[in-house]
Amino acid sequence: MIWVCQTHVKKGVESLRVPHVRETTFQTTCLFCKQKAVYELYYITYTNKSLA
Ligand SMILES: [Zn+2]
Repeated sequence: MIWVCQTHVKKGVESLRVPHVRETTFQTTCLFCKQKAVYELYYITYTNKSLA
């Protein structure tokens, strides 16, 4: 997952394929700048055995 500030949330969404976004409580910095991260972008991991 990646963390982004309010400015870069759109850029973060575009750099992942269909990510989920939530406000983060984790104390870290934005991937694109050094500001405090506000959002956390992540994937939900599916198990696709039933589709195989
Ligand atoms: Zn940023």
